[in-house]
Amino acid sequence: MADDFDVIVVGAGMAGSSAAIRLAQGGANVLLAERGAEAGAKNLSGGVLWGHDLDRILPSWWTEMPVERHVIRKRFGFLTADSSVATEFEDPSWRKSPYVAHTVLRARTDAWMAKKAEEAGATVVTSVPVDRLNWEGRRVHGIVQGGETMTAPVTILCDGANSRLSLGTPIRPNERLDWNATELGIKEVYHLDPARIEERFNLGEGEGHAEEWVVGFFPEGIMGGGFLYTNRDTLSVGLILNLGSLYGRKAKSHDLMEQFKLHPTIAARLRGAELVEYGAKLISSGWASRPAAFFGDGWMIAGDAAGFVFSNGLVIQGMNYAVRSGLEAAETALAARSAHDPSAARLAEYEQRLERTSILPDFREFEGLDRIKWNPRFYSAYPQLAAALFHELMTETGAPKATARQALKAARRAAHVSRSTLARDAVDLFFHL
Ligand SMILES: Cc1cc2nc3c(=O)[nH]c(=O)nc-3n(C[C@H](O)[C@H](O)[C@H](O)COP(=O)(O)OP(=O)(O)OC[C@H]3O[C@@H](n4cnc5c(N)ncnc54)[C@H](O)[C@@H]3O)c2cc1C
Repeated sequence: MADDFDVIVVGAGMAGSSAAIRLAQGGANVLLAERGAEAGAKNLSGGVLWGHDLDRILPSWWTEMPVERHVIRKRFGFLTADSSVATEFEDPSWRKSPYVAHTVLRARTDAWMAKKAEEAGATVVTSVPVDRLNWEGRRVHGIVQGGETMTAPVTILCDGANSRLSLGTPIRPNERLDWNATELGIKEVYHLDPARIEERFNLGEGEGHAEEWVVGFFPEGIMGGGFLYTNRDTLSVGLILNLGSLYGRKAKSHDLMEQFKLHPTIAARLRGAELVEYGAKLISSGWASRPAAFFGDGWMIAGDAAGFVFSNGLVIQGMNYAVRSGLEAAETALAARSAHDPSAARLAEYEQRLERTSILPDFREFEGLDRIKWNPRFYSAYPQLAAALFHELMTETGAPKATARQALKAARRAAHVSRSTLARDAVDLFFHL
């Protein structure tokens, strides 16, 4: 019997919609199934979109997509309970069209992407939570939803970090996600008049500011980073928390969010802004959260579902990898369709493509990143050390001036970090960041 579709894509996030657009452009009969009432309704990113891969399917996309602001500046720093140490980066190329990065709100961008998939010829269905993949032995032959089976020779899984459809199957034999390879993202959106945003963050019209912080004052050894991004008339503010360090602790994630927002540096940015939205979502943690395989008979897996998120404190990048992996899966499915061969041997091209793009080389190169990134000293001792050092170097107290070496020694002692530990962590960071 003929299949219902050439390809079924599960999940209309950045990965799924990108795949569906490319497949429809390539002439495939494609179904894009999304559980949310609308594409984007269940999605959440910080979010800075490094979107140049979208050029491949949607030329000049940034002129049409409902993006918020183009980022002209990034700030990165450490927060102690009451101080902050930061460094800032501005680059002239970031100010020029086509811009390198945009702040986005996913409810808007994902709805737009799904519409583009529809316009390209894909069948897009929302409010359709796919129950499971239709396994025939080790082969996937479409999906099952509400007791109904829809078949396709190839199914592309783009169902996000908490990929329920792959858990407990040959794709991810474990029934549960590994908490140590999963992070929790919490985000709130605050309304603020565009003119006030531009004045407060020293921005021109349409320009955006992005900042990321290592938070050094959470209780009970909880590790996490914070972010704040400017949108057109809102601010996105949130935390990325290490799930393993949250487990079994008394502190709740919303209390941590309150503590972050009450920090003097963050509170000053949010002054007068009004909360309009909040949400939370799991985030994959790169190589450690990869599945057992990226393809098999009749299936491929892309985006967060495949663990393709890179976050090292300086940047959080997942949407770009989602777009690119979705596109590579789509190209592979188009080739399989032409060859009338959806076998694993044919779909192995997907992994070869991931190798040729930066995706797999990037993740392999940064394999040790999680160990470095979640070093507890970054979330307590080092923010204290940085604050003590800069206090000494930048404050006139009437006491004799310390040299940088003396100031570092005093700051190290105040933060209880030995010279050898500091040297070891610095070298580790240098080789893995
Ligand atoms: C707080 C936070 C901040 C972030 N900041 C950034 C950032 O600044 N920059 C960046 O690049 N990345 C950022 N990320 C990561 C980024 O959001 C993800 O990498 C990206 O969304 C992955 O896209 P995706 O399409 O793979 O998955 P998702 O965006 O999660 O989309 C998955 C889709 O599948 C649907 N779905 C799930 N299960 C089913 C089912 N059974 N049936 C049907 N549909 C289903 C979901 O509803 C959803 O629409 C951030 C993430 C978080 C949580």
